[in-house]
Formats: sequence, structure tokens, C-alpha cells
Amino acid sequence: MDAISAFFLAISIAAAVWLLLAIYESIWGINLASPSCPECGSELDAITEPTSIRQLIWGGWTCRDCGCELDKWGWPISN
Ligand SMILES: [Zn+2]
Repeated sequence: MDAISAFFLAISIAAAVWLLLAIYESIWGINLASPSCPECGSELDAITEPTSIRQLIWGGWTCRDCGCELDKWGWPISN
């Protein structure tokens, strides 16, 4: 195997692992990262009461301090 083949194999494995993690987390709703609010930087609780149907199904947070909504990946949701 030459270096370029090895490189693409490594990329493929990384992509496969990432995809499996994404599927696993979307099924089980587990977020391994402890998110902090991207707007105001305050820490978010790992477990919060859902404030909407979407959060109930998909997980996510509403920041206590500034009220912005985040999905379970910790990314802000634009309404
Ligand atoms: Zn905030």
C-alpha cells in the first residue's frame, strides 16, 4: 500500500467512525461534550427539562441566562 492509499483509508475510517457516532448519538440522544452557551458562555446542565416538543424528541438546551436555544450538539438554533 502506498502512502496515498493509506491516507485515503485513514480518511475513510475517520469518516465511518464519525458517522457511526452521529447515528449512535441521534438514536440514544447522548452528547458526550458538555456544552456551553455560544452566545453568553454560561455552562449548560447535562440534563434539562425540555422546553419544547423538539427538545423532548431530539434533546437540546435552552440557556438559563440568555434564553437562546441549542440543539443536542450545542449548536444554536435560529428560529
Ligand atoms: Zn446563553
